[in-house]
Order: sequence, then structure tokens, then C-alpha cells
Amino acid sequence: MSFPSMADAGGRTLGVEELDAVAGVLRSGMLSSVWGTEVRALEREMADRHGVSHAVATSSGTAALHCAVAAVAPDPGDEIITSPISDFGTVAPILAQNAVPVFADVDADTGNLDPASVAAAIGPRTKAILAVHLFGAAVDLRAVAEAAGVPLIEDCAQAWLARYPDGRLVGTAGAIGCFSLQQWKHITCGDGGLAITDDAALARRMRLFADKGWPRDEARRHVGLGLNYRMTELAGAVARAQLAKLPGVLADRRRTAARLHAALADLPGVRLPTDVDAHAWWLFPIVLDPPLTNDRVAATLTAAGIPARAGYLDQPLHHAPALTDAPVYGSSRFPLTVPPADREPAYGPGTCPVAERLIDQTLLVIDWNERYTDDHVDEIARAVRAAVTA
Ligand SMILES: *Cc1c(COP(=O)(O)O)cnc(C)c1O
Repeated sequence: MSFPSMADAGGRTLGVEELDAVAGVLRSGMLSSVWGTEVRALEREMADRHGVSHAVATSSGTAALHCAVAAVAPDPGDEIITSPISDFGTVAPILAQNAVPVFADVDADTGNLDPASVAAAIGPRTKAILAVHLFGAAVDLRAVAEAAGVPLIEDCAQAWLARYPDGRLVGTAGAIGCFSLQQWKHITCGDGGLAITDDAALARRMRLFADKGWPRDEARRHVGLGLNYRMTELAGAVARAQLAKLPGVLADRRRTAARLHAALADLPGVRLPTDVDAHAWWLFPIVLDPPLTNDRVAATLTAAGIPARAGYLDQPLHHAPALTDAPVYGSSRFPLTVPPADREPAYGPGTCPVAERLIDQTLLVIDWNERYTDDHVDEIARAVRAAVTA
């Protein structure tokens, strides 16, 4: 049985709406969002969908996160606490703003940041907490951020329309929520990002950072450091059409994920997400109990034609040579040096043991897709049962 994938047309929701939208932009002759209408409309629709006042579109999810980090304005050497299980796009913006990524450990059942570990990582230089809603499951760090008196940035790249237990949409609980429209996300325009906020000052700082520090409503002067992270009108037109389809994508993913969840619920040795209806099901994660190991179960599933992988990452982010060994700027390890940091960052094996164990041994992910049928799900359920009971 072949499984629809986010890498091919059969596993995407790209259709005549996107074609028409792109054609309209091309016919207009205006491909830049500085003077066009599509990206401005996308920002309005994104903000409205989330019930917030501002959205800033960017050229990628990483760019959206970079705008968010720049907006909370760490001094060189300030610390931002985040998760060792995420895309590198979560961490790169912290380094790029000359701040120090501090990794807290994660929950053994979900891979999401453990609030107690985050609280323990807070220090005098903590400038923000960057939460990652991993695989589409909301992690609630509101109380920890509030107690520490620092802003919460939410990385919602994998968690479009995921909800907190109280029903609130992810991305609206902290200071800024960041989303990705990259090829492998729920909805896509190839590459793109969106940052949402209710704070007008943060929105303005993000907009300036994405546009060379140039306030377009004023003279041609540059009021601060900014890059060019603008989304194009072509991407914006596709993103608008995709955003309109998002509720359908989520409904379909949740329906089929609930079916697999029910099929595996009584299977010994596997732990499943608990928030079935609030989860965004970017992937379907399964945590295995010993003696099951993720590489063996993944190999069995792959041999059976199931799109499954061990660990999600090859190594947790705190093992990445980019952080442990490599120079950051030129031949220098700045900002991971003292000064500007007050303490040597602790990276490498042993510093986040729960995350390390998940990736090396217990975490298995199954690709998920809104085009899965009940037959696809039943095939996955059969294969997982066989692999786990073998
Ligand atoms: C994809 C992703 C990013 C980066 O988004 P890009 O659009 O690829 O730059 C950041 N964080 C997480 C959790 C992601 O999944």
C-alpha cells in the first residue's frame, strides 16, 4: 500500500485555488509584498483566525522565529531556554541574535519540554522561554514564564490549530507565536513563516526586523538592524489559499489519528499522546517501553512499507556540532563564550538525559497525512501490532 506524503501532490492540498491565486499575482505584475495585497491579506486572515491583532509574514519559519527573538531583544550573552528536540530553526535565531541557547530536558512520554526542568534552568540572564509544541502537542509553559517574569515565545511550526487543555489555540498564549509554511508542514507555500502577537510594539519590531529596519510609512531611514525576511506575493497567495484549507486538514488528520489511537490504545509497551482532539498530528509519535527499541521497531515497520522513523532526529540539538564544537562567527565561539555569557553553556551527552533516551531508544514517529484513509490507518495499526509483539 502506498502512503500519501507531504512531499508529493497526492499528499498535499494544493489545487485550483492555489493555481488561480498564483496566476492572479503574476497577471498583476506585482510580486513584492511591500506594494502588493496578498501578503497583507494573509497577515490579516492569520491574525483573525487566531483572534490576535497582529501577524507578520516572513520568508520561513526560521525567519519568523528570528524576528521573534530579535523583538524580545536579548543582550549578547543573555540566555533563552528551549527544547533539545526540535528543528534547528528553533535554535539558530537565538545564536544569530548573540544569545545563548539553554536546553531544558523534556517529558519522557511526550518529548515536550518539562516545566520543572525549564524552571530549574532559569537564571539571572534568562531573557525568554522558547516553547516548542512538538509533533503538534501543546506544551504549557505559561506559568513558568510568568513566574520568571520573561516572555514566552511559542514555536508552533508543527502545531497549526493545536489547542491547550483550556481550549486556547497555541501561538496565542505567550508574547509571540511562530508558524512555518515549509514543504513538510500542515500547509505550505514552499517556504514561509508567520509570527503572531497581540502586542503592537513587538509586532512593529518584528516587521522592522523583517524589512531592513525600514519603517515604510516614514522616510527612507533605518531605525534599527533588520534583514530582508519578506514573504513574496507568490508565496503569500499560495499561503492564503492553504490557510483557508487548514481547518479541513486538521479535521482529517484528527479523525484518522483518533482511529489509530483507538486501535493501539490497549497495546502493551507503547505510549500514545493523550490529547487526541487537541493535538495537531503533524506526526504520530509513539513512545516505546523497554525492551522494545525504536531502531528495531522502525526497521520492522519500514520493511513493511510503513513511513516510520526512529527518534525523529539523528541527535538531540544539544549534541549538534554547531553548538558543541564548531565556531559560530569566523573562528570564534562567541556568543557561547564568557564574556558575553556569564556561564559556559552545558551541551553534549548527559546534559538532557531524557531527551537523549527518547531519540536513541524510545521515540518512534510515523508520518501523518490528511489524505490517509481508514485503510492506511488499519494497515499501520496491523504493522505496529506485529512489530511490537514480535
Ligand atoms: C520546521 C520547523 C522550524 C523551521 O521552519 P522553516 O520554515 O523550515 O524555517 C522551526 N521549528 C520547528 C519545530 C519546525 O518543525
